[in-house]
Amino acid sequence: MSDAVTARRRVPRPENDPNLTYAPGTAARAELKARLVTMAAETVDIPIVIGGKEIRTGSTEPSVMPHKHGHVLGHFHKATPDLVRQAVEAALAARQEWASWSFEDRAAVFLRAAELLTTTWRSTIVAATMLGQSKTAYQAEIDAASELVDFWRYNAAFAQDLLSEQPDSSHAVWNQMEYRPLEGFVYAISPFNFTAIGGNLAGAPALMGNTVVWKPAGTAMLSAYYVMKLLETAGLPPGVINFVPGNPVEISDVLLDHPDLAGIHFTGSTAVFNSMWQRVGQNLGKYRGYPRLVGETGGKDFIVVHASADPQAVAVAAVRGAFEFQGQKCSAASRMYVPKSMWSDLRDRMVAMMKEIRVGDVRDFRNFMGAVIDKKAFDKISGYIDDAKKNAKVIQGGGCKGDEGYFIEPTLVQASDPAYRLMCEEIFGPVLSVYVYDDQKWAETLAIVDRTSPYALTGAVFARDRAAVREASTALKNAAGNFYINDKPTGAVVGQQPFGGARASGTNDKAGSKMNLVRWVSMRTIKETFAPPTDYTYPFMAEE
Ligand code: NAD
Repeated sequence: MSDAVTARRRVPRPENDPNLTYAPGTAARAELKARLVTMAAETVDIPIVIGGKEIRTGSTEPSVMPHKHGHVLGHFHKATPDLVRQAVEAALAARQEWASWSFEDRAAVFLRAAELLTTTWRSTIVAATMLGQSKTAYQAEIDAASELVDFWRYNAAFAQDLLSEQPDSSHAVWNQMEYRPLEGFVYAISPFNFTAIGGNLAGAPALMGNTVVWKPAGTAMLSAYYVMKLLETAGLPPGVINFVPGNPVEISDVLLDHPDLAGIHFTGSTAVFNSMWQRVGQNLGKYRGYPRLVGETGGKDFIVVHASADPQAVAVAAVRGAFEFQGQKCSAASRMYVPKSMWSDLRDRMVAMMKEIRVGDVRDFRNFMGAVIDKKAFDKISGYIDDAKKNAKVIQGGGCKGDEGYFIEPTLVQASDPAYRLMCEEIFGPVLSVYVYDDQKWAETLAIVDRTSPYALTGAVFARDRAAVREASTALKNAAGNFYINDKPTGAVVGQQPFGGARASGTNDKAGSKMNLVRWVSMRTIKETFAPPTDYTYPFMAEE
């Protein structure tokens, strides 16, 4: 196919995947419920996948249901350091061929994967996310189905825009920009809390022509494995993404010390990303180039309420923003600032909703919340709640019950000190801490919101008074990478609210945007002269 034809090809224009409601009586609900039954009855043997080959080491860990932790959904095989090295070799071996594919051929693999996910694979990946990560049907739907479909479809369109950006040319000169994949392999490390993130962390660099070693989170292995299988089914060639479950430290030791490490695509906690960055810094002399470091990390996301706000809108945003998926979203509302004049009204509205909320097994669709991910999270969150019982006021909730599933009630805490640790630290659970401020102290409160936490991921202001919105927007310019006005701070949609934060919340390369994709290419500028000069002298040198 000639270049002229290639240049005119366009990927289909993306549109956000519509969310299914799973309301009673719908076919989607019936299909999902049936899938939950069959998948809960299976015990999946999850292999390592290197160069398209499934490998089983026999050293395994179980994947369980967080809401019924005695129930084993599968076992995943853990990679040895030697297998991790083989995964790098497989990635490097696949690189040349994959990078030589036209962008359209690479994009077609992800577009096909998106099509499969939105249709025949939907119930499988949604059910895996419900069972393995304890998301309700709707939370699993907006993550594992819609968001991942959106990542794959929008990235193809964003990549196309990026590749079409070309420099100007002058007389008898043609300047071109070539978007080369990075030299080496990309290490993708995904968190437990979003199935879509794994598919994007590995998928975005691969779309741009890179090959990848993907280490999924140990507590989200079932859904990650199905994402890997889906990509293979969609035609992803062997070795382009290598699926390497196992001990994160052992795996990272091999990959971060490898001379061919070309980039890290990470989402997870700030401490882990910091440790990887430090290791890369120590290793700089070893690498072929400067590895690209892209990390989206922790948050301590705020809702700041002005006295002019609509209390019902605030209450709904706070309940959804803080407690959906048990507060285990990097964007979850976790600290709230409320004017004294509104507090008792807002508190009563929230408490009424929280009393209604059902927490339990996500296969019972009446539940609004499931369990937190594992025992470590359960212990950490209950520790914060114990602290609140002693050092603050627990307004509602506070119950923690871990015998069958890791259940924590939605919890509302009132702190009298805005620097109290529950107002500052990332808890990653269903705990919302509130500081009630004097109505007169709006400007001072904005300054407190800005300086209270090291993070700057998401935040929301609620106000009907436009001047207050403007003030908050200015005072909190650097306090959030995703800022919401009269809306909850969660639920960013690919293509609509590019996502990422600054300060200790990450490199802010905005997942699901052209800005992220630019990190996975290294540009080569090509100047071609059609009429090369034939005389080395310049006119100014001539005799007068
Ligand atoms: P985590 O940091 O514990 O784990 C993330 C990944 O890193 C996992 O694959 C894990 O196995 C691996 N890992 C853990 N320890 C490691 C080590 N020492 N060396 C190398 N890799 C290691 O995070 P998590 O609990 O899975 O996810 C929750 C965190 O992720 C929260 O802090 C949350 O705010 C953050 N998060 C951020 C975003 C964002 O876009 N900013 C999105 C989702 C989650």
